[in-house]
Amino acid sequence: MTELKGIAAANGISIGVAYKLGKEDFIVPKEGIIESQIPLQIQIFEEALIKTRREIIELQKRISSDMGKDEVQIFDAHLLVLEDRMLIEEVISRLKKDKLNVAFIFQEVLKKYVSVFAKIEDEYLKERISDINDVGKRTLRNILGKEKKGLSEFKDKVIIVAHDLSPSDTAAMHKKGVGAFVTDVGGKTSHTAIMAKSLEIPAVVGVEGATAAINSGDMLIVDGSLGIVIVNPDKKALDLYHTAEEESRGVTQRFLSAKDLPAITIDGVKVEINANIEFPDEVPAVKLHGGEGIGLYRTEFFYMNRKDSPTEDEHYLAYKYVAQEMSPYPVIIRTLDLGGDKFLSQFKIPYEMQPFLGWRAIRFCLARPEIFKLQLRAILRASIHGNLKLMYPMISGIEELRQANKILGEAREELRAKGVPFDEDIQVGAMIEVPSAALTADILAKEADFFSIGSNDLIQYSLAVDRANEKVAYLYEPAHPAVLRLIKGVIDSAHQGDINVGMCGEMAGEPSLALILLGLGLDEFSMPPQVIPELKYLIRSLTLKQAKEIAEEALKLSTGKEVEDYAQAKLKEILK
Ligand code: PEP
Ligand code: MG
Repeated sequence: MTELKGIAAANGISIGVAYKLGKEDFIVPKEGIIESQIPLQIQIFEEALIKTRREIIELQKRISSDMGKDEVQIFDAHLLVLEDRMLIEEVISRLKKDKLNVAFIFQEVLKKYVSVFAKIEDEYLKERISDINDVGKRTLRNILGKEKKGLSEFKDKVIIVAHDLSPSDTAAMHKKGVGAFVTDVGGKTSHTAIMAKSLEIPAVVGVEGATAAINSGDMLIVDGSLGIVIVNPDKKALDLYHTAEEESRGVTQRFLSAKDLPAITIDGVKVEINANIEFPDEVPAVKLHGGEGIGLYRTEFFYMNRKDSPTEDEHYLAYKYVAQEMSPYPVIIRTLDLGGDKFLSQFKIPYEMQPFLGWRAIRFCLARPEIFKLQLRAILRASIHGNLKLMYPMISGIEELRQANKILGEAREELRAKGVPFDEDIQVGAMIEVPSAALTADILAKEADFFSIGSNDLIQYSLAVDRANEKVAYLYEPAHPAVLRLIKGVIDSAHQGDINVGMCGEMAGEPSLALILLGLGLDEFSMPPQVIPELKYLIRSLTLKQAKEIAEEALKLSTGKEVEDYAQAKLKEILK
């Protein structure tokens, strides 16, 4: 039994069998086939080989015009792998014998080749390993494309162990198929962690050496609340965790009692408790957990795992559905926020040294107004179907807000010209997630209808800590005095400017910190749906006066740790 420690990214406990992904792998499902399916599997394999060959020759042509002969020769070696009779015959004979899907068998045979080559004391042959891997991956992708299988088709309940998972990998996973995630890298507010929460999958990220210590088939206990992974647990650990699972169900029951009640403090102050979603099909979960609205709809996930971009009508239909389903409650649609750790292949964003500081979010949208305006038109059109609001991500100052509003004005004009109805009074907000925006919130408040604090980014930018990097995760402190002061300034400026201010970063759903936010005067809290009952329960358990005192005391403290400990103690006291 080994215990590994990482960063608790998504609450919950899961006990299951590990399935390890290589650094650039994708999950290859293992599936039994029947005798009559063998010819089709062979055909899939042959077509994938032909397609891969064509791709390589195409690549070779392109490269030979840009680069020299040496580079082209690499692809000759790749083509040789594809023509290797021994490899092809072994795949076919194992396919017939083992009666498993061809993608799985091909991957197994490749692994065997790689391990044989790795043992040979010959530099030339050793170098062939990377050729086998490269061409193997290319072929596997083509086989899986044919089989229309991939990450999302994983059937058995397993625990995924990977060096890293992209938000789109995570988004593609079937809720039922995956018991938990464990990754070597990553931070608490990386979009992979956020997705895990949305999918209600326990996750521990930033577990250094997880992929080295864990093998596929190992039994794992993943404690997403404490950030612990136990490899091949003994009976005592298993018993302990089975009991913990039951206890946590009991606590959840207690919070669930508050889920359909309003979030009103004992002294009668109401705040809004909303949900964050990535996909329209999360709406039922929002309702189930008592969400009163959507405080953040991350629309960029609409663009993920597809080669083309959604059309205006696709956007419109998705927004209309969410607006109608949630009506009369508000739905805040956040415009496209790509970049950072969210890449979309269709836009061919160039590689950047500092993607979080680069061509992201509103910066991208202002540079590509045709993409931006298409989305804005769709939001406007959907606005007549419910209580829709929109907000721009990563506003860094008033000029960006004005530029974005100018394009919104053009979108309005285009619709008016065509006689398409929309809500003329739709509220337009700014996310406050860049320190420059936080510090000029008084100026922004004059031209924005509301604010939503994006604490995930605000923390990373104000503390200079990459939110997705486990090495510096210890410095990522939501309770840091600098963060609290910035947030206080934003809330005060919003109220002086007579606008509402919410928060849609993960911090809003952290009960201990929510106490402070309530005391600072936050009007709206938006969080993953599952956290809503606990937050409602908490807000109904204290007075605003108490919360104000807690915030005041917290602001006097010198370190994030002191604030965190203080808030945790207060939380315990309140929840007893
Ligand atoms: C944030 O930054 O807090 C936020 C809600 O946006 P995202 O997590 O999508 O960057
Ligand atoms: Mg953000």
